[in-house]
Formats: sequence, C-alpha cells, structure tokens
Amino acid sequence: MKINKNFLDLEASYLFSTVNKKTREFIASHPDSDVIKLSIGDVTKPLCPVVIDAMHKAVDEMADEKTFRGYPPEQGYDFVREKILEWDYTKRGIDIKLDEIFLSDGAKSDCGNIGDIFATDNTVAICDPVYPVYIDTNIMNGRKDKIIILPCSAETNFLPALPAEGDAVPDIIYLCFPNNPTGTVAPKNYLKQWVDYANAHHSLILFDSAYEAFVTEPDVPKSIYEIEGAKSCAIELRSFSKTAGFTGLRCGYTVVPHELVFDGTELNALWFRRQSTKFNGVSYVTQRAAEAIYSEEGQKQIQENLSFYRENARLIFEGVSAAGFKAFGGKNSPYVWLQIPEGFTSWSFFDELLEECQVVGTPGSGFGKMGEGYLRLTGFGSRERTIEAIERIKASFGR
Ligand SMILES: *Cc1c(COP(=O)(O)O)cnc(C)c1O
Repeated sequence: MKINKNFLDLEASYLFSTVNKKTREFIASHPDSDVIKLSIGDVTKPLCPVVIDAMHKAVDEMADEKTFRGYPPEQGYDFVREKILEWDYTKRGIDIKLDEIFLSDGAKSDCGNIGDIFATDNTVAICDPVYPVYIDTNIMNGRKDKIIILPCSAETNFLPALPAEGDAVPDIIYLCFPNNPTGTVAPKNYLKQWVDYANAHHSLILFDSAYEAFVTEPDVPKSIYEIEGAKSCAIELRSFSKTAGFTGLRCGYTVVPHELVFDGTELNALWFRRQSTKFNGVSYVTQRAAEAIYSEEGQKQIQENLSFYRENARLIFEGVSAAGFKAFGGKNSPYVWLQIPEGFTSWSFFDELLEECQVVGTPGSGFGKMGEGYLRLTGFGSRERTIEAIERIKASFGR
C-alpha cells in the first residue's frame, strides 16, 4: 500500500491552532483578563424560527410510515431547488435551469470536490490572501506545481489584476466575492473583465459567493450570472452557512450551467456523475430547513441576523478608522481587514492587540504571503463585546 503523496506537499496550517494557543496562554498568565474574540469565523446567532419549525415538522414526517423519506434525489428535492431557482435567480432576472442546481452539504465540500472533474494538468489561478481550501484541495489533487498566485494588495482594493498579454493563461480561476478574508467586493465592471477573459481564453471561473447575502449595494453582484457571458465560463458555489446560519446544519449548492462545455463535454453531466457516485444527498430535514428561508417571513428573519452581523462589521470599521487605522471591507461583508501599523508583522501586532486591548484578531499572514501586514476582524460576535473591543482599541491606539 502506498499513500497519496500529494498530501505530503500540503503546508501545515497553524493559523487557527496558534491563535487559540496564544489566546489560551495569555488567559492562563493573566487570570483577571477579559479577552474578546474578534477572530470568530463562524456564525453565533441561532437558526431562525421558520427554519426550526420546518425541521420539527420534517422530523415528525420521518417518524410516520406514510410520510417517511429515504434516499433523497441526487441533486436535491425539487421543493428546495425550485425555491432556490425562484428566489436566488429568477426573481433577480437571471435565467438558470432547475437541473443546473446541485444541492450539497456545503460550499467547502463543493470547492474541494469539483476538482475531481478537471484534468490534473490544468493550471489554477488563486488569489493571495485566500480562503486556504482552494490551495490545499488543488495540492491534494496533484496540482501543486500548477498554481498561479494572483497577488492582491491595497492599491487595487484587493482585487487581483487579470493576467497580462504574454502571461500564462490559467485554465481555472478561483474568485471569491465578497471576499474572505479581506471583506472587499468586486463591482460588476470588474467581474465583467474576468468573464470576458475566461470566455476569450476558454478558462473556467469557480465563483465562491458564500457571502452574497451580505451584499446591500446595487452595483455589487450577488451572483456571477448577473454578468453577461458568465454562463459559458463560470460555476457558482453557494452556501446557507453565512446566509442563514447553517454552519452546523450543513447545506449549500453549486450551479453548473449547461453552456459550460470543455473538451466537447458538458461539465453539468460530469458533476452529476461525480455527485451521484460519491455523494448520497442532503438530509431531508436539512432540505426542509433550507426551503424555509425562501418565503417573505423566512427572508425577513434571516435578514435580522445578517443585519446584526453587518452592523457589527460597520461598527468595527468605523471604530478602527476613528482610532487611526486604515481598514478595508466592513461593508457588504462580515469582515474587516485591518492594515497594521508600521513596525509590526501580522503576528507581532496580534500579540500587541492581545496584550494592550485583550482583543483577538486573525493574523493576515495566515491567509497567504500577501496577507502579511494585515489582521482580520469579524462581525460575528455579540454587540456588547464588539463595542467593548472597539472602545479598548480606540483607547490604546487612538490619537
Ligand atoms: C464559510 C465559507 C464557505 C462556506 O462553507 P460551508 O462548507 O458551506 O460552510 C465557503 N467559502 C468561503 C470563502 C467561506 O468563508
């Protein structure tokens, strides 16, 4: 027996374990301290009432022989996919077909699994800083030497430049907007350039819009398919995790339009084959939970939580700006990307913030080389603690 050696090419990730370890050690050596975590990368509000009611009802159905359900359909039940189609696409003027929507247990799985349907020798363009899943899953698939880094910096509001004439043409391009970790968004005219590039070069865009529900501004697309031409070059990955607090429940979906044809083959057919072979669907109870957010009342309830996180992010952005920091994001996103003062690295400023303010952030360097010099703060905490953290930052660093 031999192992898959690609796994040995992975770089160990110490980011969250080191953040937790340093925080634990600080608390142990400062027992009277009152540490506030602005590093939370997970939702904290409970599921909304419509979701809970739908789940209770679905559980009761599963308890009765007449309404019990076994294996779900491969792509998900029509009742939920029809709602997704209507609310996330048709109502927004986007023409997607029902059989282009594949329900799943979340966007992380889909981001990782989608690589199964592409040749190993494709080149992949990935932003830096980045959600590490894109890099690691490509390394696992044997594409370690095929990764083209797209550096993202403050000068361009963390939007990566398109490859120039003569640069290597990436076969696959990962884009995520609103972005994790920078909290920045891509306007329509910018995304249009990528769509035109991908169509011209026959590249494929993998568009992660896990944070689309945070978007409030009209010029910021919630879906890549708002951009003309995207259906012939882009797959979209969606999640109920941040939208409706499903991080513990697990549900997402991926859109693979029929127009995506490479090597004479529809990607939709390949993804159907991959999913129906290796995945047996999302639980019935969870599918009913997802369906429940697609009603006037459901949308109202999820918006209450989303507004709460957005307001936290806005307060953090305003607060750190008032304290004299330069910051990005904080709008259309739960994340604030703090530019740290000169003389500090991401990690030394992490320590400084912990010692001076007893506030925990996430060092930007943990998201890639280009993240050095930044710290990610999140709006997923409580209002009271978020305000307290901001007050401390202002008191320590404000001039
Ligand atoms: C949270 C997150 C997801 C969602 O993952 P799930 O598996 O659906 O919970 C996807 N992409 C990014 C960039 C994220 O931050």
